[in-house]
Amino acid sequence: MAEFPDNRLILYPRAIGARANRSALLGVLKDAGLIADELARESVNGMEGHHLVGERFFEHVSFLGCSPHLKLEPPEQGEDSGTDEFCHISVSCDDNVSFFGGNNVRAPQCPQCKAVENDWQALMPRWEKAPEVFTYQCTECGATKPMHMLNWRRSAGFAAVSVHIWGVHQSEAVPNDGLLKELEALTFCPWEYFYRIS
Ligand SMILES: [Zn+2]
Repeated sequence: MAEFPDNRLILYPRAIGARANRSALLGVLKDAGLIADELARESVNGMEGHHLVGERFFEHVSFLGCSPHLKLEPPEQGEDSGTDEFCHISVSCDDNVSFFGGNNVRAPQCPQCKAVENDWQALMPRWEKAPEVFTYQCTECGATKPMHMLNWRRSAGFAAVSVHIWGVHQSEAVPNDGLLKELEALTFCPWEYFYRIS
């Protein structure tokens, strides 16, 4: 379990085969002003490589209501960091695809007939064993699709490359098109987003 609150807005490429170099991705985010420096050593506490939000953060991420808990700086030393949440950003660049799902995962829908798959948790171990080849078969319409093609309704995602904006609660904020386009230019495919809530 994370030592700090784990609520995230996660951006990821729609194409499961998309990959990116970590420094190239960080370069795009830095140039866009989404991220600033890495967190200072003393405030890291399991957040190695995480970045403070950049000066243009609010141009790229629109908060939809008032967000009274929103903080952009780490807690001062001595403050209770375990319960204090602040916005910071990390990236994930791997060779393999991961499933990012928190406690808010909604049962996915068949992309063809929209039937809801309530047994999705039973399918995950089979996906994990053979992520490249495992396909879901819809019990309603018979369509066969890879797991990432199901409609997870912005509650989970599959990706090798992703940008994690920590401290954002369910449906609280959305990424703006300009940011998604910058990311698209890096990976040559459109990007999507979802919420991962602990
Ligand atoms: Zn179906």
